[in-house]
Amino acid sequence: MIEQPPSVVALLSALQALLGLGLGTLFAYYHRVYRRPHLQFWSASFYALALFLVGSAAALLLARRGADATAVRTIPSVLSQVAVYVHVATLVLGTLALRGGMAPPSWLTRSVLAGAVALGVIATLAYAFDPAAVRERVFMRVGLRYFVAAATYLGVAVALLAGQPWRNASVGQRIVALAFLGFSLVSLLNFAAIVSPVVPMESMAASPWLNFVDLAAVGAIGTGLVVWLHDDERRRAEGAAGEVERLTFFDPRTGLPNRHLFVERLVERLIEADVRGERLAVLVARPDRVRALRAALDDAAVDGLVARLAVRLGEWLGTGALMGQLDDDRLVLVLAPVADAGEAGRRADALLGQLGLALTAPGGSLLPVTCSLGLAQFPADGDTAEALVSAASAAQSGAAAAGGNRWAPFSRNLGNAGRENLLLEAELRRAMDAGELEVHYQPMVDREGRIVAAEALVRWRHPRRGLLLPGEFLAAAAGGNLLSKIDRFVLGEACRCCTRRAAAGNPLRIAVNIAAQTFEAPGFADGVAAELAASGAPARLLELEITEGTAMRDLEQAARIIERIRALGVALALDDFGVGYSSMSQLRHLAADTLKIDQSFTAGVESQARDAAIASALVQLGHSLGLRVVAEGIEREGQVAFFRERGADLLQGFLLARPLPEPELARLLAAGPVTAR
Ligand code: C2E
Ligand code: MG
Ligand code: MG
Repeated sequence: MIEQPPSVVALLSALQALLGLGLGTLFAYYHRVYRRPHLQFWSASFYALALFLVGSAAALLLARRGADATAVRTIPSVLSQVAVYVHVATLVLGTLALRGGMAPPSWLTRSVLAGAVALGVIATLAYAFDPAAVRERVFMRVGLRYFVAAATYLGVAVALLAGQPWRNASVGQRIVALAFLGFSLVSLLNFAAIVSPVVPMESMAASPWLNFVDLAAVGAIGTGLVVWLHDDERRRAEGAAGEVERLTFFDPRTGLPNRHLFVERLVERLIEADVRGERLAVLVARPDRVRALRAALDDAAVDGLVARLAVRLGEWLGTGALMGQLDDDRLVLVLAPVADAGEAGRRADALLGQLGLALTAPGGSLLPVTCSLGLAQFPADGDTAEALVSAASAAQSGAAAAGGNRWAPFSRNLGNAGRENLLLEAELRRAMDAGELEVHYQPMVDREGRIVAAEALVRWRHPRRGLLLPGEFLAAAAGGNLLSKIDRFVLGEACRCCTRRAAAGNPLRIAVNIAAQTFEAPGFADGVAAELAASGAPARLLELEITEGTAMRDLEQAARIIERIRALGVALALDDFGVGYSSMSQLRHLAADTLKIDQSFTAGVESQARDAAIASALVQLGHSLGLRVVAEGIEREGQVAFFRERGADLLQGFLLARPLPEPELARLLAAGPVTAR
């Protein structure tokens, strides 16, 4: 066998070490993005490999320098031997974590690592100071390593392929398994050569083809792992998206479509009815006094009652009928076709007679529960699905308010909400001119409790009614196209706040809510650019929040606007995410930076399995897509723990900080990290 010059050994080792470093860094980066436990192991594994190569090259060079360097050589030798066993151990641990979907138990990790370190130390020190025991020394340092490597690589290859047919394995999985198999064979050959008495060991240990094969195997494993990772993340993202869709489109208590899905299906029915010239009616049903029932009894009992109501309605309607659940207590269904208003009324009347429900009260006695029904006709009471559902809901409220246990048709003078909104709108116009609007900022806190961002929230300091929240006036603004004006005002204030905070030495990202009509208005992105230029705020500190509803109105248009905004360097957040207005598979293609989990899920993560499942799936989905995940509406320690555990990046909520005027925000920033009290 040909002795290779030291420079070739050094070059090959350096190449391998660089490859190891590169892969270690790559996996560390992926770990930051995807936060999957196996990535941390793989990253450590390839760093350890690089360390091994540097250590063994140093030992080799020292050896070539001749010199009585046993003691000096021992240090890099120990280091490199420990590193190589840690490399093998962490590679295996990482692969186990990937196979099992979670990190191996910490006792196992600790023992495997301790075993690897011990093996490395023993392998180097055994026979280290006995000049005569050359064969034994080489066996301990090189042979043992090849043996352990051959056995573990074979084990890993088998573990990767066991339990599923070859054709089901992903491409990355196949590459990794084959590379491990090959690596194992080569290691076995090496081992055989080392223990075979006929091969001169010194040349064996440093033969050039071994280095090449090693390099190729490491390269193949690294490439395979990257391919596998991407494949796996794509599958997980799809899985999480599917799970979120399932959880968000159907109500788990009744199995009925939720409001969004119902409306979508109703739209189809309306189109059909329109084509055929048919009439239909939408009917909303709700148990009477249900709020009082929820307050007096436990939620599960009332949910059970609603589920029984759903069954009754389903039986009455027959198969193939369209039904849905609008919220906790309201069910909705379609009567089709109906000849005229009279027929719909007669059917509602008949239904009411069959809805005798009962609940078991705490003492064991039976509590009769009646229902109220609201009816809206197509096309007379509305020609869109949303309008019909709203009309039937309003009619149901009317029936309940009139004493319950009755049905009521929709009537245009049910309420005067419309008139109130008009008055409010006029007042709002005046308020804007009078400077009564202001902006408060609610901090968002990272895992260390640092305030790294804040959400700008509009407030109206009303001269008589005090500080009004957006919920009390934004709907009126939407009616009068005032919303865009408000959003621009808030955007300007937020940009200036951003500049001031950065100048004060506390730069933080500020998120501004953008309504659909603002977002879609022509020239919106140019307006943002102008606002940034005028205020001097750095674009990277601005984030715009749109709701998934806004994004879904016209996905292609939204994608174009988002592209323009992000081209400015401004970030984009999907707000109130998961409330069920969208198809996850479509939203995944939007180039957002942040995903904000809606507070309605946060509220239930500790007590409602469904909310916890959705919130977890959303964190997972966000991370799979490489997004920053923010959990909104944090009010309790338990929610902090829940989201920290699942790896949410930022938390926002009253527990951490309320929305504050800028001077108070500045004080809070100066005071340092926020801890959840
Ligand atoms: P959002 O964007 O989801 O904002 C978060 C809302 O949750 C804020 O309500 C905030 O005060 C509230 N919040 C924060 N932490 C907690 C908590 O721990 N518990 C509870 N229960 N609530 C919490 P706010 O300020 O009333 O705003 C409501 C919504 O109005 C916002 O929801 C946003 O959609 C909209 N909005 C606010 N400002 C603007 C604006 O300038 N333009 C537009 N277009 N919409 C805005
Ligand atoms: Mg928001
Ligand atoms: Mg929100």
